[in-house]
Amino acid sequence: MRSVSMLDLRGEFALYGDEVRAAVNAVLESQQFVLGPAVTELEEALAKRLHVAHAVAVSSGTDALLCALMALGIGPGDEVILPSFTFFATAGTVARLGAKPVFAEIDPRTFNLDPIKFEQCISPRTKAVIVVHLFGQCAEMDAIAAIAGRYGLKVIADAAQAIGARYKGQEACALGDLACLSFYPTKNLGGVGEGGMILTHDAQLAEVCHSLRRHGESRRYHHERIGGNFRLDTLKAAVLNAKLRYLDEFNRRRCAVAARYSRLLSTTSVTTPLVESHQEPVYHQYSVLCHGRDELAEFLKSRQIGTGIYYPVPLHLQPCFGYLGYAVGSLPVTEDICARILSLPCHPMMSDEDVDYIAGCVMDFSGKSMVVNPADSFRERVVGRETAGTRADA
Ligand SMILES: *Cc1c(COP(=O)(O)O)cnc(C)c1O
Repeated sequence: MRSVSMLDLRGEFALYGDEVRAAVNAVLESQQFVLGPAVTELEEALAKRLHVAHAVAVSSGTDALLCALMALGIGPGDEVILPSFTFFATAGTVARLGAKPVFAEIDPRTFNLDPIKFEQCISPRTKAVIVVHLFGQCAEMDAIAAIAGRYGLKVIADAAQAIGARYKGQEACALGDLACLSFYPTKNLGGVGEGGMILTHDAQLAEVCHSLRRHGESRRYHHERIGGNFRLDTLKAAVLNAKLRYLDEFNRRRCAVAARYSRLLSTTSVTTPLVESHQEPVYHQYSVLCHGRDELAEFLKSRQIGTGIYYPVPLHLQPCFGYLGYAVGSLPVTEDICARILSLPCHPMMSDEDVDYIAGCVMDFSGKSMVVNPADSFRERVVGRETAGTRADA
């Protein structure tokens, strides 16, 4: 039987292994492991590729968010608005600085921050909004930036899943006051361990981030502010430099896989992701909404197909945020999506036959489940607003 896992990093490594080994060897020979030319090279290459003036490499995507928030002076008494449907780090970093995360609803068709709900969360204490370009598709940046501008709020983009994505022809990382990337091994540009980057057009913010990543130093042993050790290792930067030339090709392959899924699954009971014509996502995940999500995941597992649930529990209902006082039902759209979402394998090493096999299995399942469950009202209830726009395959 065919088997398809969520990722095939070893298959990818077979393609670029020699280049990565050479890059690692060069760093080992130099015996310089902290910052250095490989880090500067990565910063310059990504700033150029992503059309942003300044790039500051840091120790993880989480530290990129933390450092960006610190650079904006976010702290106790401040509120930061963000979606509840995201990875923990988006909110964890806000809370670690003593500020209050305020969770806003998402658009159930795109899983990204709903601009209207964002505006409803603004209070006199709101300082910033963090938009998350979830699964590799941009949030509605024009609407969000317009609202943020009216209220004088800063915009941080959590682009950990969206390197190379475009919105109205613009790079995701070029939108907002600061954008944050992650090089966690499973991301679209994954490294050999932890890593991240902050991107900004603002020279002053970039300077502050540079200083924050080395304990707030202006020069050696002179500390202008309190920062942290947020440096990216030289070895990791060297590997990323070698891998960067594969990024666009790999992202294109992810898009081709997604388009094939959306075409094949259009007649099944699962709802494929909505991609409007001004969006060019990079499919960090290909996520569908379905009836009997856990049963579908089990069924696919029995056919040797990996799946993922991003995310099973929304952040506003996590035990650690209990002090914020959100009850079950307070963000019904987000909670409903958490119960229905399932990510299918979508990575550069997949063949068309892999996609056909998975889609066929989903059809088998959906044929069965429609007999058991003829009234599929979920589609209308959650995605009934789906009138404009096109799907990924259009
Ligand atoms: C991966 C990820 C992060 C955190 O990045 P790390 O490099 O793992 O610290 C933050 N936000 C989102 C949406 C992510 O997917």
